[in-house]
Amino acid sequence: GLHHKVVIIGGGSAGITVAARLRRAGETDVAIIEPSENHYYQPLWTVVGGGLAKASETVRSEASVMPRGVKWIRDRVVTIDPENQVVSTESDIPVHYDYLVVCPGIQLNWDRVPGLTEAVGHDGVSSNYTFDLAPRTWDFIQRTRSGTAVFTMPSGPIKCAGAPQKIAYLAADYWRIEGVLDKIHVILVLPGPTMFGVPVWAKELEKVVARYGIDVRFQSEMVEIDGTKREVVISDNKEGTKETISYDFLHAVPPQSAPDWLKATPLSDGTPGGCVEVNKETLQHVRYPNVFALGDAGNTPNAKTGAAVRKQAPVVVANLKAVMAGRTPEAHYDGYGSCPLVTARNRMLLAEFDYTGNPHPTVPLIDTTKEHYSMWLLKRYGLPALYWHGMLKGIA
Ligand code: FAD
Repeated sequence: GLHHKVVIIGGGSAGITVAARLRRAGETDVAIIEPSENHYYQPLWTVVGGGLAKASETVRSEASVMPRGVKWIRDRVVTIDPENQVVSTESDIPVHYDYLVVCPGIQLNWDRVPGLTEAVGHDGVSSNYTFDLAPRTWDFIQRTRSGTAVFTMPSGPIKCAGAPQKIAYLAADYWRIEGVLDKIHVILVLPGPTMFGVPVWAKELEKVVARYGIDVRFQSEMVEIDGTKREVVISDNKEGTKETISYDFLHAVPPQSAPDWLKATPLSDGTPGGCVEVNKETLQHVRYPNVFALGDAGNTPNAKTGAAVRKQAPVVVANLKAVMAGRTPEAHYDGYGSCPLVTARNRMLLAEFDYTGNPHPTVPLIDTTKEHYSMWLLKRYGLPALYWHGMLKGIA
């Protein structure tokens, strides 16, 4: 078997950022277990689906983002034994650790909606939630000139809760420019009772849906789809009713949870979501003090976003160093998350908030509760640059 002082599970946004910061903080024995040859900047997949960026801009080789001096174990974790401080992998090589950082992201549960696995990817059904399918979203949007377009969001925690509606606005704005919006019935299916969890942005989004004439179905979700008939079943969870809708285009967001293998470990919080049970401020595991978790796989009640990862990573590193030195972890994550709400092909609202549920603005001089062109430029060009050149290097 192998042994490393710090083992990181997952070389995504969280894993690479934490590893880069640990190296900067002088740690010499750090390993990342990551099976994928590629590293993705997922926030741009929305823009790819909207036809305003190329998929190739969202991917780099994993090797190119691996911080210098960090050991890359190219393998897939299958379970964790926190009592014996060992991780098991697909190729059956045990990896022992002194300290563990768990960040393998969230799992897309396509099979939770009957018919969805079969339907997605062809005949007008797509999803921006994978690299391969995001470009297809744009194909289908362009081909839709009339009929019904349905955009769905599942119940339960998902990554980037704004993404299911952003693509509806990018599509509707495109159809408006093409002069066909009035021939398309646009339906947005949302599981909650409002447009967004924070009232100031919910109010602005109400104006956006009114502007495009979008038919919003609150407290509703997709429960079944028949791709051959092009029919989707939407349940209204408030009224307890179901409606079958014929669609020409459907953008699906699958239900999500912690990966099945992770749920089955003692690190899980035991809920249906099953994420890693950490203290929401220190990000330290509540039962295993040498284990930390962050990103989409942690059970902290913040919005699951890359923006949250950016604020969590320095907290994890500071608290890991404290635990290594026999001190109590004192760095605190305040629940910051942000959601760039793209509302048109050249405008955006920037929702930033924390555990208190109050707005938590970080952009000076701009009222980000209103739509701005400058915020669109931030999303399209600024944030990707900040990600590749700042965050992943452990310096921003
Ligand atoms: P990921 O970045 O997903 O990384 C997880 C890594 O773990 C992957 O590399 C994976 O290969 C690896 N892994 C998986 N299983 C295993 C295993 N068994 N063993 C080892 N490794 C494993 N965030 C924003 O801030 N703003 C946005 O506008 C935004 N928009 C989004 C739009 C879409 C369509 C999507 C899909 C996401 C969006 N996000 C956005 C969310 C953001 O991408 C995630 O919150 C962020 O990537 C989480 O980082 P992570 O490291 O936890 O997970």
